[in-house]
Amino acid sequence: MIGLLSAYQLGQAGLQVVLLEAGETAREASWAGGGIVSPLYPWRYQPAVTALAHWSQDYYPRLDERLVAEGGISPEVHETGLYWLDLEDEAEALRWAEHSGRPLFPRSIDQVYAAVPALGAGFTHAVFMPDVANVRNPRLGKALTAALRQMPNVQVLERSPVRAFLRDGERVVGVRTHDRELRAERVVVAAGAWSGELLATLGITLPVEPVKGQMILFKCAADFLPSMVLARGRYAIPRRDGHVLVGSTLEHAGFDKTPTEDALASLRVSAAELLPALGKAEVVRHWAGLRPGSPEGIPYIGEVPGHEGLWLNCGHYRNGLVLAPASCRLLADLVLGREPIVDPAPYAPAGRIV
Ligand SMILES: Cc1cc2nc3c(=O)[nH]c(=O)nc-3n(C[C@H](O)[C@H](O)[C@H](O)COP(=O)(O)OP(=O)(O)OC[C@H]3O[C@@H](n4cnc5c(N)ncnc54)[C@H](O)[C@@H]3O)c2cc1C
Repeated sequence: MIGLLSAYQLGQAGLQVVLLEAGETAREASWAGGGIVSPLYPWRYQPAVTALAHWSQDYYPRLDERLVAEGGISPEVHETGLYWLDLEDEAEALRWAEHSGRPLFPRSIDQVYAAVPALGAGFTHAVFMPDVANVRNPRLGKALTAALRQMPNVQVLERSPVRAFLRDGERVVGVRTHDRELRAERVVVAAGAWSGELLATLGITLPVEPVKGQMILFKCAADFLPSMVLARGRYAIPRRDGHVLVGSTLEHAGFDKTPTEDALASLRVSAAELLPALGKAEVVRHWAGLRPGSPEGIPYIGEVPGHEGLWLNCGHYRNGLVLAPASCRLLADLVLGREPIVDPAPYAPAGRIV
């Protein structure tokens, strides 16, 4: 999603863009994610993460409209609100909301059970943010790919893994794929969990590591779950058509993305605790993806010092879908020398990589 939206932003600004994708577009973490348009616990993140999240949250509904107009595919931005149940740091969350002007409100547990009748018994307190949406990320990937294919100045080349960078002294002047060399004024690395491997070919150490996450999917009645619910790190996300996603695990397992029986069992227990009717329901799909883990989840956005022409937009860890619009807009602002939407300093690669 980061590569697609970067190409979209740069292409709309009139640049000639070639998007090189090792496999098919939006099939890795950006397909596997839940698509909650908010960090799971926004108050626990650095302001650098929330600044991008807030910009994106406001932008997503407009992006949906634009993509429908441009390619006819809606990413189904679904504003359901999100209930956090039995939070340990509820007071801190409410203080953060007041301070940052976000709509997060305490709810009595009776109000929650009235709003979400399918919720499991035993929860005692909750806070609710009514304007949190989720996006159907596989459709967002399709919609963006379709929009890019219609832009005359953008080329999307799938099954084109980048193997190395072309250099002229310290300057990066292009890339080599499995079957060709491409020259460019700028190369943007948006290779998700694989970004570190790619930069290692230049002797650069980028602390971006794969963090495996597994999810399960149920199919319910369209009105089964009116809002997203989250307790003890596990959440349920309703899509408009009644699909409900339950996630997710956090595992350090290298680049292995095989779904496991242990994770399936654990996710099923969480699903049944949150929404007991799911205890007996069939799991219609189970998958895993690799998040691009980075220190404190702060992405790298900007040019790499000492390697002119080499740019990064990667390391979005657990929040790549919510952060994508703002991250890609910021990248485009920096590339084009425009006034940036947010202070770019916290994301700058300078001083954060060796
Ligand atoms: C289970 C799970 C749940 C999640 N839930 C959420 C959520 O609710 N909200 C949220 O905001 N985020 C969520 N995330 C995180 C989010 O999915 C990621 O942060 C985001 O998708 C990262 O996007 P990306 O484009 O950087 O990486 P990816 O989607 O992994 O894309 C990287 C792309 O680079 C390509 N590539 C790799 N190497 C090369 C190469 N050498 N040459 C060419 N192409 C290459 C890959 O094929 C891939 O298509 C979740 C993730 C998981 C796994």
